[in-house]
Amino acid sequence: MEQAAFTDQQVRSLRSQLLAWFERNARDLPWRRTHDPYRIWVSEVMLQQTRVTAVIDRYTQFIRRFPSLVSLALANEDDVLALWSGLGYYKRARMLHSAAQLLVREHCGSLPKSAVELRRLPGVGDYTAAAIASIAHGEPIAVVDGNVERVLTRLLGLGETMRSPTATRLKEAANRVLDRHAPGLFNQAMMELGATVCLPRVPLCAQCPLQEFCGTRGEHTVRRGKQMLSRKINYALAQKTLGGSGNPAAVLLVQRPKDASQMPGMWELPLLAAGCEAEREPVLRVRHSITNTNYYVAVFAIDAKDSLNFAHSEQPGGRQDWVPGKKLSEIPLTGLARKVLMRLDILPKPKEVRRGKALPGAEDILM
Ligand code: SF4
Repeated sequence: MEQAAFTDQQVRSLRSQLLAWFERNARDLPWRRTHDPYRIWVSEVMLQQTRVTAVIDRYTQFIRRFPSLVSLALANEDDVLALWSGLGYYKRARMLHSAAQLLVREHCGSLPKSAVELRRLPGVGDYTAAAIASIAHGEPIAVVDGNVERVLTRLLGLGETMRSPTATRLKEAANRVLDRHAPGLFNQAMMELGATVCLPRVPLCAQCPLQEFCGTRGEHTVRRGKQMLSRKINYALAQKTLGGSGNPAAVLLVQRPKDASQMPGMWELPLLAAGCEAEREPVLRVRHSITNTNYYVAVFAIDAKDSLNFAHSEQPGGRQDWVPGKKLSEIPLTGLARKVLMRLDILPKPKEVRRGKALPGAEDILM
């Protein structure tokens, strides 16, 4: 049931209980070990619409390669995209890169401190500006991402199928409960609660530190899941091997045109020409989800000498080339190409995967 605003006493208790819970339960994530605004900025951009488990490895590699805003600004775009490979939504990487260049040109290479100034940078919205300003500089401004929205909607007793509460109302509620003495920690605690306890489908209310303040306690109505579309894709895998070594010297890939509407300039496997899959067994089947589409992908090995007949680009103007194995980790691969090449042990797996953590999307491997 929708409830009236919290009393001052409730707000004080809510803050202290949430912060105490966060102190005990916060996940140890690499971007939580720093107050460097640049590193927080990179992590917040990577985390938009992307799972934490997929970001950890990419973030670590990205920061190792571009440890400062200036080093990012001086990089060329292909190197930035190569480090972004697998995270998707590559426009984020391009915006991050161009904002870093602008900051070096016009602001001596440092990020502004206030949320209002940060908001003026290309690609920085309310959420990212509030996250950087509160976490790095202690500005008392609430962060409202999807997780926080869900927690607040439930705390306020609003059903999720009724007309969504307006963004303004949620922002007001978020700023009302925000702990102004520890805004960065409080914002992270709210996001953590949404990500690990107040889950979209089945919230873990018995473990929730805010249960006594909650207007729904798991009795909320749930939004219907989005309808997923399906698409089948057959890829061709052609490799040239060095005599006797058994290691692929080069893999045939296609670079999307620089003016393609999606993932311009990214490298991917060529499509297998129609009908060529008949009487062949794929070397890999994999499912890959992008926004509302499940791609059911089969990869077929073909002889290098047949590549002109069997492999082609989906994108008009796509450029085919043999990419040496050693260069694969240096070029901007699409997330799907990266996943396939790792599963086939053509591209080395990141350290985290070798140590036994799941490959992002590994649950989707069908064969
Ligand atoms: S009690 Fe349940 S529904 Fe309410 S905020 Fe906590 S986890 Fe979410």
